[in-house]
Amino acid sequence: MTTTAIVSALHEELAAVLGLMPDEQPQRVGGREFWRGHLHGQPVVAVLSGIGKVAAATTATALIERFGVQRIVFTGVAGGLGDGVKVGDVVVARSFLQHDMDASPIFPRHEVPGYGRASFEADAALSARLAMASEQVLQTLPAQLGAEVVQAFGLQAPRCHQGLLLSGDRFVSTSAESTALRAELPQALAVEMEGAAFAQVCHDYGVPLAVVRTISDRADDAAHVDFPRFLREVASRYSGAIIETLLASR
Ligand code: SAH
Repeated sequence: MTTTAIVSALHEELAAVLGLMPDEQPQRVGGREFWRGHLHGQPVVAVLSGIGKVAAATTATALIERFGVQRIVFTGVAGGLGDGVKVGDVVVARSFLQHDMDASPIFPRHEVPGYGRASFEADAALSARLAMASEQVLQTLPAQLGAEVVQAFGLQAPRCHQGLLLSGDRFVSTSAESTALRAELPQALAVEMEGAAFAQVCHDYGVPLAVVRTISDRADDAAHVDFPRFLREVASRYSGAIIETLLASR
């Protein structure tokens, strides 16, 4: 049976996934706990990647080399960049790009040296299933969070978007920076700190990857406001429900 890795960058999101596993056992590798167990009867390895591209790349490598996972699903939060990508929406990546990769003038801006390309693809079939699971969750979950939470974060009529996800080793939290990113990479839907690193490692090993991100902020001057509360009360609930729906739908 296919072993699925479920990865989160932040504690609250992993906690929601571990809560769905009846039998998880920790194994410590490279300073991280990898939790082996099952979810809906399917073998799963759940792990906290930590924040940033290096933490993401070492986690992905360990999952593949040490734990033999055959596909990786990442769930996390991100800052919205695209028009109409608002807090409480969900983005499922179709492709990934490292917005802070710059070996110019030797290589074109954003191109990853040695690969002849700037962007890496998500697995189309797995991502389509993840998008379906996300759509399903968006139809029911916000109502379950309660009117006060919906009001506080403006979660009315959330949408699922699919497209380009940016990653870099920066928490993008100024309007100047997000405006510059939007001008430079107009197709980008959202920005985070791990996805493109996972995509590069998964490309190296030929392992299917899908990434879902709940939009926690607009990557602007208000990006830090209420981040912990959003994680606790909204994002972790989305993560748990989307992963549960995905693995139940096999
Ligand atoms: N304050 C947080 C730090 C979160 S860092 C804490 O206490 O732990 C941001 C994490 O969320 C990263 O894993 C990144 O992938 C994602 N993220 C959310 N919004 C982002 C933004 N505007 N820019 C970059 N990453 C963002």
